[in-house]
Amino acid sequence: MIQLTHSHLQTIYTHAENAYPEECCGILLGTIVGDNKRCIKVITTSNAWNTEETPEAFTHSQEYGRNKRYTISPKDLLQAQKQAREDSLSIIGIFHSHTDNPAIPSEFDREYAWQEYCYIIVSVQKGRAVDIKSWYLDDNHQFQQQKLFSTKIFINFCKDTISKATV
Ligand SMILES: [Zn+2]
Repeated sequence: MIQLTHSHLQTIYTHAENAYPEECCGILLGTIVGDNKRCIKVITTSNAWNTEETPEAFTHSQEYGRNKRYTISPKDLLQAQKQAREDSLSIIGIFHSHTDNPAIPSEFDREYAWQEYCYIIVSVQKGRAVDIKSWYLDDNHQFQQQKLFSTKIFINFCKDTISKATV
């Protein structure tokens, strides 16, 4: 499960709608307790696909534009890692948008995904964010959907469960 606040969701939706018809992307910082990830900070980044900041691994496959592909520049990823360290948080996931397509990972998304992150995809149809889903990789490197839980503010309703689980 991944938990976000309504304000985190709003940040993601706005970033996605502003980037339309291109895909947007960003990084989620937060905490991890067992299988539960709690987002604390949303970092919006620019889509570095097909720019001079495109990581080396993708420079051979530039036939698609930023309306079909996204990548986060190594510089933005480093900056997020630094910020996570300073705030005693972890990078818990990556988000990006699919424009005029459902919030379901593509084969490209699957191929380049990392097991330790969750992947949030927001579907933007005709310029408006209409759906959001969260995914994680299973042991066979296949995406499984996970519960995305959003609240106005975080409440420690699962504190008992967490302390029992760590005993
Ligand atoms: Zn995608």
